[in-house]
Amino acid sequence: MRITFCQGVLAVAIAVNLLILYYISRLQQRILHRHRDHVQPGSRQQLGLLKPGVTVLIREFEDFENYVPDVVRSFVRQKPELPVVVAADRLPYPPMVLPSAPNIQVVLLKPSPDQPALVFRPETYVRTEYVALVPDGVRADSTSQLERMVEELKDSQNQAQMVAAPVNSLAPLRCLNLKVSLKEWTAEYTAAPPASTLCGALRGELVLLLRTRDLFNLSVPLAKPSLTSLFVQTSLRGWAVRVLDVSFSALHRPLLTSSHNQWKADNLAKSHRTQLFQDFGIKRVILEDGKQQWFGCGKETPRCFGTIHDDTPEYLYQNRWTPPCCLKALRETAKYVINILEASGVRYWLEGGTLLGAARYQDLIPWDYDVDLGVYLEDIPNCELLRNAESGSVVDEKGFVWEKAIEGDFYRVQYSERNHLHVDLWPFYPKNGLMTKDTWMDHRQDIEFPEHFLKPLVPIQFAGFLALAPNDYRSFLELKFGEGVIENPEYPNPALKSMKKGN
Ligand code: ZN
Repeated sequence: MRITFCQGVLAVAIAVNLLILYYISRLQQRILHRHRDHVQPGSRQQLGLLKPGVTVLIREFEDFENYVPDVVRSFVRQKPELPVVVAADRLPYPPMVLPSAPNIQVVLLKPSPDQPALVFRPETYVRTEYVALVPDGVRADSTSQLERMVEELKDSQNQAQMVAAPVNSLAPLRCLNLKVSLKEWTAEYTAAPPASTLCGALRGELVLLLRTRDLFNLSVPLAKPSLTSLFVQTSLRGWAVRVLDVSFSALHRPLLTSSHNQWKADNLAKSHRTQLFQDFGIKRVILEDGKQQWFGCGKETPRCFGTIHDDTPEYLYQNRWTPPCCLKALRETAKYVINILEASGVRYWLEGGTLLGAARYQDLIPWDYDVDLGVYLEDIPNCELLRNAESGSVVDEKGFVWEKAIEGDFYRVQYSERNHLHVDLWPFYPKNGLMTKDTWMDHRQDIEFPEHFLKPLVPIQFAGFLALAPNDYRSFLELKFGEGVIENPEYPNPALKSMKKGN
């Protein structure tokens, strides 16, 4: 093939152009790199190694009354170059007068729109390998306290990721086990066996030392209340804390001098705790004495989850099960409704997923979102509340709401006017030996069944009481859901969210 002169010139011109473009882009990249190095010397340093030693980090103190300057002085008196970081949500007011030295810094955690995010991250300021979380009112008595803590942490190898020293040796720390299940929205504290030195959580006043890298790899390193937040996060990672026989003394007792300030501090602590558990999605806390604290929905609040789409509640997509407050309210509503049905002579039986839960767990299925009961249509007039619900919704004396469902010919009892957790009542009537009804939902289990399953009804353990179920409920359930349904748990709509796929 012959190439004309013009074609040759064109080819050379294109080649030269490409070369020029290549060099320009190389040059631009080089300039960009140099620029980046120039404007952010800190970022390189940040990725680099931490210095040996400990930074004292003070996070827990009250604006309105604190001894932070004294705490800081007591530490730097022992070791003048000791880095100290005071981390506050916003600028302390009244102003905090700290010794002025480059190693003592106040860090504000609340971003200001005119500053880069880096400025509000405490990890920007903690540049040592170890960090000691020191509460207000602690006095350092010697240089060796922090050093010993570091040595003990190093000696703990992989057994403990944190070490703790009590403040005031007269008040020993309480060593607890802590089990957090995000799936069940629950944190459970139990007392550790006496003489345990490895704990999941601690109660008491303490200085906590850990690796800086570990602290800032937590999800929310400096959430308040510090220790509650830390131990919830560390127990999810399987970390332990070792209690040392090192102790610190207290600067001032009591820490807060007036009962009014104490009251203010207690209220703040309580609201931080509530906020923390809400942020972490923990709705039930079981304390070591067995007491329970609830942070989820109640009669006066909306229920914890929104409208259900395709039988798959939102919490399943979050890899969680029904919030325990909701399970509790469903059990309570079911028991209440069943009592009323029994007292008024309405024959009922546990239906669908509710019966399945009773057969499998003697309780609700842990990811279920409502309760289903079958009732004899002809018995409905026996119950005054159901009769009255025909003409509109009725709030009964206990605050439960009885109504005829708008979706079809069935009844619904809601936990309250605000909280729409509910029990559905499905009226069936016999026809040629089969139990049938007029409204059908698009569910596999929503089918006609032989009446002999209801003759007689049999008692079954359910949610802490005895309820009535179809006789031979295994066959009843297998007829509705398929063979082996009791033994093989699965989410309601496996096409969307399946248990077996491991997610
Ligand atoms: Zn709830």
